[in-house]
Amino acid sequence: MKLYNTLTKKVEEFIPHDGNCVKMYTCGPTVYHYAHIGNLRTYIFEDVLEKGLSYLGYDVTRAMNITDVGHLTSDADTGEDKMAKGAKREGKTVYEIADFYTEAFLNDMRSLNIKVPSIIEKASDNIDVYIKMIQKMIDSDYAYLSNGNVYFDISKAKDYYQLSGKNAEDLKIGVRDTVEEDKSKRNPADFVLWFTLSKFENQVMKWDSPWGVGYPGWHIECSGISYKIFGEYLDIHCGGVDNIFPHHTNEIAQSEAYVGHKWCNYWCHGAHLNDESGKMSKSNGEFLTVSLLEQKGYSPLDYRFFCLNSHYRNPLVFTYDSLDVARNALRKLKKKVLSLSNDGDLDELLFDQYKKKFSDALGSDLNTSLMITIVYDVLKDSSMSDKTKIELIRDFDLVLSLNLLKDDSNMVDESLKKMILSKIDERNTAKKNKDYQLADQIRDDLLKQGIKLIDSREGTSYEII
Ligand code: AMP
Ligand code: ZN
Repeated sequence: MKLYNTLTKKVEEFIPHDGNCVKMYTCGPTVYHYAHIGNLRTYIFEDVLEKGLSYLGYDVTRAMNITDVGHLTSDADTGEDKMAKGAKREGKTVYEIADFYTEAFLNDMRSLNIKVPSIIEKASDNIDVYIKMIQKMIDSDYAYLSNGNVYFDISKAKDYYQLSGKNAEDLKIGVRDTVEEDKSKRNPADFVLWFTLSKFENQVMKWDSPWGVGYPGWHIECSGISYKIFGEYLDIHCGGVDNIFPHHTNEIAQSEAYVGHKWCNYWCHGAHLNDESGKMSKSNGEFLTVSLLEQKGYSPLDYRFFCLNSHYRNPLVFTYDSLDVARNALRKLKKKVLSLSNDGDLDELLFDQYKKKFSDALGSDLNTSLMITIVYDVLKDSSMSDKTKIELIRDFDLVLSLNLLKDDSNMVDESLKKMILSKIDERNTAKKNKDYQLADQIRDDLLKQGIKLIDSREGTSYEII
């Protein structure tokens, strides 16, 4: 497996510490709201990576955290507490918010055929681990207590800027949302390991510590959980590109301070999904979630297919038009696969040849669009029995996870039907209110999606074109 490593800025052969056992850690969601489809693009990439490593023969253990405490609206230590913000928005407790959105996130994962990591740890369940790590960092002079908070001193880290390629000058302008300067820090980029001096008087989640009642910083959570599960070495750590700085940079600094040597060799990051305005957001405009796509008649796997058609390191712009293209292509592809007859013998030579091609594409830094092209090549190959085609596609789908051999056309059609009928209702109401502009808009939007409305004396029916 060759992977682009953010640490070295090169595509490299992936070599785990311990034979073919892979210890993989992926940053989990902050559970204060639904995941948007941008977040889920990162989890789809990580899913392909995990399944791809298993496909190539590695024995992968993957752990992920659930951030339910300590993450402020700026990824540095400023802004509002995200969990408190969610609780206030919905008039619930932070515990209720965390439980609800954790479940919603796991449901999104399942509907996108993302394998739920075998180890999931809540940040708030591991306070003792963070306290132990922080105490050792204080004792070894990597961390200091100032005005009630415990900070990590970045001047003690070996090569603090290696992962991000930034420097201290960039940071002066680079740290997002940093409007308040924290006078308690020795260096502006020092970060909080433990807050006691909280500006959130009503902070609900808080614990006793040697430095006073408080709560952990966001970054220590991933270092702590990774150490608890995997010990001193981690093979591969992933997230979205926004995690590179400061989150992963700070994880490296504190984990290496704690274990006393290099900690993780491979860092892989997925590029963002943006909307046409430039940034996917949970607060502005239409909040793009998997359930919104379903309400609009798409299957979650249409979105998975849309993502797999581009490389995980390329930024991707979401539009409904391009999702339509993906949906239509996936439907046609499935139709073709489902029309295969399972006749003939398995041609092992051809099977191995195509499997090798697929593995090579996978091992070339997860070339998912080429992996999909190989599915089309298999279908087109007239020298191959249907049986061989089916077995190859079954094998490829272990990684692609597009349910290529499952006939769910009825299920998909059911959700599409529901969406169209609700749009027809909406259009009828608009007409009743003499809002003909809205009524026409609804008709035109459906037409763009390949659904033609037909008005008659009996009412409105539709045709898929
Ligand atoms: P959060 O819940 O904000 O901690 O983010 C969860 C994951 O989604 C992290 O790995 C982020 O790097 C990733 N992420 C955030 N925004 C996007 C985006 N627009 N596109 C892709 N991944 C994203
Ligand atoms: Zn993390």
